[in-house]
This record gives sequence, C-alpha cells and structure tokens, in this order.
Amino acid sequence: MIARDGACVSLWQNTVTEFNKSNFFSDNSFDVAIVGGGITGITTALQLQKAGKKCIVFEAYNLCFGTTSGTTAHLNTLLDTPYTTIIKNFGKENAQLVAQSSKEAIELIKSIIKEYNIDCEFEDASAFLFAQDDKQNKELQDIHDACREVNVKAVYANELAVSIAHKKVMRVDGQGKFHPVKYVHALAKVFEDLGGVILQQCRVEDVDENDVINIVTEKGNFQAEFLIYATHIPPGVNLLHLRCAAYRSYAMAVTLKNKKYPGNLFYDMYDPYHYIRSQKIKNSTYLIVGAEDHKTGHVENTDECFLKLEAYVRKHFDVDEVVNKWSSQYFEPADALPYIGHLPGHKGNILVASGYGGNGMTYSHVAAVTLKSIILNEENPYIKLYDPNRIKPVAGFVSFLSHNADVVRMFAGKWFANEKLKELADMAPGEGRVVKYEGHTIALHKDESGGLHALNPTCTHMKCSVAWNNAEQTWDCPCHGARYNIEGYVVTGPANIQLEKIEIKNLAE
Ligand SMILES: Cc1cc2nc3c(=O)[nH]c(=O)nc-3n(C[C@H](O)[C@H](O)[C@H](O)COP(=O)(O)OP(=O)(O)OC[C@H]3O[C@@H](n4cnc5c(N)ncnc54)[C@H](O)[C@@H]3O)c2cc1C
Repeated sequence: MIARDGACVSLWQNTVTEFNKSNFFSDNSFDVAIVGGGITGITTALQLQKAGKKCIVFEAYNLCFGTTSGTTAHLNTLLDTPYTTIIKNFGKENAQLVAQSSKEAIELIKSIIKEYNIDCEFEDASAFLFAQDDKQNKELQDIHDACREVNVKAVYANELAVSIAHKKVMRVDGQGKFHPVKYVHALAKVFEDLGGVILQQCRVEDVDENDVINIVTEKGNFQAEFLIYATHIPPGVNLLHLRCAAYRSYAMAVTLKNKKYPGNLFYDMYDPYHYIRSQKIKNSTYLIVGAEDHKTGHVENTDECFLKLEAYVRKHFDVDEVVNKWSSQYFEPADALPYIGHLPGHKGNILVASGYGGNGMTYSHVAAVTLKSIILNEENPYIKLYDPNRIKPVAGFVSFLSHNADVVRMFAGKWFANEKLKELADMAPGEGRVVKYEGHTIALHKDESGGLHALNPTCTHMKCSVAWNNAEQTWDCPCHGARYNIEGYVVTGPANIQLEKIEIKNLAE
C-alpha cells in the first residue's frame, strides 16, 4: 500500500506497492525540474525526457500521494463542465479545441500503454449521461447539441445498463478507464529507464527565480532552466488561488452480490452529480461510485457525506461489501478551463498546470503536451487556449500578496496545560475542533488513544482558519484548500509551511 493525503484508504493505494526505483545522479543541474509526482508531474516528465531534456521530479511524499490516488479515473472527452458552458465562455472554435485536446489526451494514454506494454487494467468505455426529470431532459438536449457542435459524437441511447430511473440517455463513445496509480508507476519506471531522476520524500521549499533557477529542497539545492509546478495547485500566493476553488468529493468501491458490474461510465445530472463505473483489478471487480462534492472545509461532519453516498449506492445496487471509501480534493477553475502554461506573476521559465476540476486524468495529458511545446518552443494552439494569464490581476493584487505572504507565529514560547485543555476537549477520539481558550483560538485534536494535539489554526497560506475534516483526519483550509495532518504538516498545497505547533504540558508530571 502507498501513503495518501488522508486517513481513508482508496482502492488504488490499496492495490499497489511503493515505487522505489531511483536513479543515481552526480550533477544537480537539470534542464527541467518538475515539482509534484502525481499523474501530471510524471506524464510531463516522461514527455520531456523522451524529447531529450534532462529532467528531475521532486515529490514531497511518495508518487501519487496527492489526488492521483484519490481519483476515480474516468477518462473523458465528455467533460464535467458541459460544452454548452465552454462554448458560452470561450466560443465554438475554442470549445472544439478543448474537445480535440481531450480526445488526443486519451489517445496519448492509449499509445503510451501500448508502446510500453503497461499493465494498468485500461479498458475502452462509453459515457452515459442520463436525465431524470423534464428540466434535466432539456439540459441534456442542450448538452447533446453542444457536443455535436464541438465534434464530440453524442447520440441518444435507448437503454441504461444501471437500474436507475431515467427519462432520456445520451451516449458518447471513445472514453476509457484504468488503474491510475499502476499507470503512473509504470510511466515513472520508463522515465527513469530513459535517464530521468525522481526524488521522493523531497519537498521543494523555496525557488529562486533567475535565468537559471535555484531550487531549495529537503535534499539540497538544484538548478534548472525551467521549473514546472505539477503540484495540483501552485504553492505560495498566486492569482490562480483566487481563480481555483477547492472542492472535496467522495468515492466508494463496493463488490456486488449479483456480480452485474456495468462496463461503461455513468453520470446523473444533479449538482453535485453521481459518477459510476466499475474496475477490474487482477481477479476482482469493483463498482466505484462518487458524489457528495462540497467546497473544502465547508461541511462540518464529512463522515455524513459517506453515509449519504452509501445510502445511494445501496439503493441502486446489490451491494455485497463496501471495500474502500475515500475522499479527495480537486480545484475548480473560475471560467471552466484549466490553467496550463506560464505561472502568472512569475518569470517565463516558471510553468504550472492547475484547475482541472474533475477531469485531471485527461487534462494532465493535455498539460504534458502543452508544457512540452512551451519548453521546446513548438507551435501549439493549446498554449493560448489554456494560458493561465488569460485572467488579468485585479488592481492592488501585488500589495495584497505581500500583505498575505508572512506567516503568523503566535505561540512561540507559550504552552498550555493538558489538564485545562482536556476540559475543553469533550470530543470522541479521532475528533478535532477549533476552540477558544484564554483569548486564543486553538485547533485541538484528540487522537485514538485520547492524547491531545494542539495547533495554531491560522493557515500558513493566507491566514484563514482551518476546519476539521473528520473523515480524512486532517485540518482543511476553507479558503484555498491547503490541508495539514494532525501534527500540522502540510499534506496538500498551496501552503508550503506547517501549522504552528502549540506545546501542551502535563502539570501533574
Ligand atoms: C474524488 C475525485 C474523483 C476524481 N475523479 C476523476 C475522474 O474520474 N477523471 C478525471 O479525469 N479526474 C478525476 N479527478 C481529478 C483528478 O484526479 C486530478 O485532477 C488529478 O489526479 C490531479 O493530478 P496532479 O498530478 O495534477 O495532482 P496530484 O495528484 O495532487 O499530485 C501533486 C503532487 O505534488 C506533490 N507536491 C505538492 N507540493 C510539493 C512540493 N512543494 N514539493 C514536492 N512535491 C509537492 C504532492 O505531494 C502530490 O503528490 C477526481 C478528483 C477527485 C477529488
């Protein structure tokens, strides 16, 4: 099993072992440094290494520690944001390019799997979007028409292979599904076979931007001509944080008594919607259902989201056993398209890929191709389409940045008595709460053995107050999605600095 950025165990992390091959290297200078070892980082690194660039990947934990092991890995050209919206925001021609780029992304995945003979349980699939009332019928018709306008061949279907009441069904072929972590691990091996370097357990702590970039990491300093933030959301304080909203979604892998696993991909049209598929892993098959999305840190009891999801799954399927349930975070872009290219407000050799919404399996490959074109100075229409600088900074943003960049350390030299804090902590083991005590606000967590952990709840990113996520046992920031474990260490950016620890002393000792 591999580690992930939450306490719940996903189907993917549970069915692989850690990636532990590592290339020897003697020179700390590289052409391209890639920060982040999820699907974006590894796919992009492989594309660039194949193109003759000398690349290094830095991963703060282990490969796929982030959302890549918390995904559900549908491979779509039928995107979460309907083409109706993309056409409205960007025009028909650009929407056609979006559809083309996602189609090419799936083709790229298939060609990589074929070229390197990768065993990641890939299967071709069709997507079925179904309406359940008259309003959804109308919306489905609009989506159908918009799909056809952008050359995504949508057709109406007569049947739905899942027994969920429906009025109208639309089918799109040419989709896919796979085991995302097996895929990324296989790509990482190919990348290293081609001479690339991967450093796991190596957080990038600071970056000195120059023609030659100096990268400060937990394992020393490195130099590179280009740096790519494949960190899902870039660290630091950036315009993109105001343009990407952090959301949490919930997923469940179950076995079925009747063994009737539907082969394709299914979506209802509620907001948030349910997404359904099955996955074969070795000799076992699982039904995977996801839903219950909400803004990060905006739901008090995240366990309830699993209860609602399980009730839905049991209502519609003949569940034998719930094998895994997990939740994970994604970043929704403000205007429906991801941000791939030059990081706003930074030198031209600092690149980023972010804001994928729920389509990062596909968009990661659009990012790999687009970022490669930027670095190799190739013409590519996706560079303009996905340019993060399509959004302009609002007046006063620079002073806002410097105002928010400093970290608050309020508890240096201060401690609290365990006995006193225990009086505040009328919580069950595994719970956390932000409490007020002696004029201070404290993020307090009681671990499974009753021990208390206290942190300064002020997020080190932009000073919002974190909220407890009981399902994943993390402190999550409702503003921009930074997340911390019970010891205060960053598990998800954009924060790059841990929460301040508050010392607790036992007066009786
Ligand atoms: C529940 C759920 C279901 C989803 N289902 C689908 C789906 O069906 N289809 C689809 O296309 N998309 C889906 N998505 C979205 C998709 O999973 C993500 O967009 C994608 O996994 C993002 O990959 P990534 O490599 O960009 O980021 P991540 O996988 O998050 O990787 C980023 C990595 O960067 C590392 N990192 C961060 N900061 C640093 C640092 N300073 N130094 C070094 N390393 C650092 C992290 O540890 C992490 O491993 C889903 C998302 C969720 C939440």
